[in-house]
Amino acid sequence: ATAATPQVWFDGRMVAIDSPQAPLTTHAMHYGSGVFEGIRAYATADGGAAVFRLPEHMERMRKGAELLGIDFDVDAASEAVLQTLRANGHRDAYIRPLAWLGSGTIGLDVASLSQHLMVATMATAVHLAGKATRLGVSGWRRNPASSLPPLKLCGGYVNSILAKREAKQRGFDEALFVDGDGRVVECTGANVFMVADGQVVAVSHPDALDGITRATLVELSAAQSRPVTLEELKQADEVFVCGTAAEVAPIASLDGREFGDNPVTREFQQRYADIVRGRDAAFAHWLTRV
Ligand code: PMP
Repeated sequence: ATAATPQVWFDGRMVAIDSPQAPLTTHAMHYGSGVFEGIRAYATADGGAAVFRLPEHMERMRKGAELLGIDFDVDAASEAVLQTLRANGHRDAYIRPLAWLGSGTIGLDVASLSQHLMVATMATAVHLAGKATRLGVSGWRRNPASSLPPLKLCGGYVNSILAKREAKQRGFDEALFVDGDGRVVECTGANVFMVADGQVVAVSHPDALDGITRATLVELSAAQSRPVTLEELKQADEVFVCGTAAEVAPIASLDGREFGDNPVTREFQQRYADIVRGRDAAFAHWLTRV
């Protein structure tokens, strides 16, 4: 059963979603000084639910928190995720934990600021995946890793927002970041794969987020992980993107170059769906029961 009023975890307890208040001087609101995750839980065949690769998501969040000097207890945050799912009666859910710097100073020395953690869960009945996406090469460059490490730092997502806005204004669904040397980086919230000459290739780039879905698909298959140029991508037989929210999503076109049928992409979609929903016992170790 779904709770009448959605509940969120906020600094150590479950509260109604509309009750917590953050001051308007919240540091993270002014400077993006926070770190978040995007995680999913799925209803499993046995009538229960499970979170997909929770430890990996929590470890990535811990790295981002460490960079910002935010104390982050992986076990406590993992428990908060499970408790929030239970409190809301969610089985198929998108899970959004956020750790952020609060109040204390409006300056940039963050040592004395208050630190906070919240977890929200949202029901996801309909999947984003399966929809053919029209991709456009962005005029924006990805944040270079030498300026901002590719972790889920709040402020870093302004870069994705600019690219997404530009893509939409130009009539595309999603933006593809390409670097100054013509190498493919990633999308605004997903990693890129191609299928060329029967070989599956996971695009690698130092400025791209080390995606957990990407790592999952590489582990499942004989996919090669290597740098890919935009020219190669345009000549590929199939292109797909992947991420926790996107799952495995076929690309219909890239800057007007149309892709045809996506048989390999569909196989990956099916394989991924089976694993996250607990239909493949060989990968049960990736599921944390709710
Ligand atoms: N790249 C970016 C920029 C993202 O925000 C995401 C979503 N977290 C991904 C790639 C895919 O990562 P994951 O598979 O871990 O969700």
